[in-house]
Amino acid sequence: MNIAENIIAFKEGLPKDVTLVAVSKTKPVSDLMQAYDAGHRIFGENKIQEMVAKWQEMPKDVEWHMIGHVQRNKVKYMAEFVSLIHAVDSLKLLSEVDKQAAKHNRVINCLLQLRIAEEESKFGMDVGAVKSLLDSYEFSKLNNIKVIGLMGMATFTDDMQQVREEFRRLKNIYDETKDKYSFSVLSMGMSGDYKIALEEGSTMVRVGSAIFGERNYG
Ligand SMILES: *Cc1c(COP(=O)(O)O)cnc(C)c1O
Repeated sequence: MNIAENIIAFKEGLPKDVTLVAVSKTKPVSDLMQAYDAGHRIFGENKIQEMVAKWQEMPKDVEWHMIGHVQRNKVKYMAEFVSLIHAVDSLKLLSEVDKQAAKHNRVINCLLQLRIAEEESKFGMDVGAVKSLLDSYEFSKLNNIKVIGLMGMATFTDDMQQVREEFRRLKNIYDETKDKYSFSVLSMGMSGDYKIALEEGSTMVRVGSAIFGERNYG
C-alpha cells in the first residue's frame, strides 16, 4: 500500500464538493502521517480512546471525525476537539454531547444515523424518530450541538442493487428534510460501495481499507 498515492488518487478522483474522511481506525500514527504529509487533514476513527491518543500525537490542524457508535460516558474525552460525530442515534446522546461541548465553549457538529440496512444488528434511527427528535422542545434547547446532516450504512452484501436502493432511500430522506433542518452533509459510502454512494448523492465518503490497506481485525 502506498498511502500517499492512494490519498492523492482519491482527492483527484472525487467530485470537488465531496468530502473524504480517511478512516484510520487500528492504523498506527505513522500511517496517518503519510496521509497527512500528502496533504490530507480529515481522519475518521471508531473508538474514542484511540482517537484521543492519535489527537495527542498528531498535528493540531487535523479534523477528527468519530464515525463509530458512541457510548455516552465517553463523550467527555473527545468533546475538546472532535469536529464531527457521525453516528448519533438518540436525544440522550445528543444531550450529553451538548453538555460536554458547553464545558469547552464549543458547538459540536453531529449527524443523525438512519437505519437503512436490512440487517437487524445495525444501529440507527428510523425516519419518524429523526423528525420527532428534530422537532422536539428538548432538542430546541441544545445550544452547543448542531445537527448538520444524516449518515447511514448499507447492508454488508455483494448485492450492489440492494446497496444502491438503501442509499437511494437515505438520499430521499435527506432531500425531504434538508431544507427544513438546514442540512448540508450526507455521509454514506465506504471502500466497497463509495462509487455507488456518490452516484446516489453522497456528499461525504468514509474510506478506510482502500487508502490504508486491510485491517488486521474483522
Ligand atoms: C470502518 C468504517 C468505515 C471504513 O470502512 P472501509 O471498508 O475500510 O472503507 C466507514 N464507516 C464506518 C462507520 C466504519 O466503521
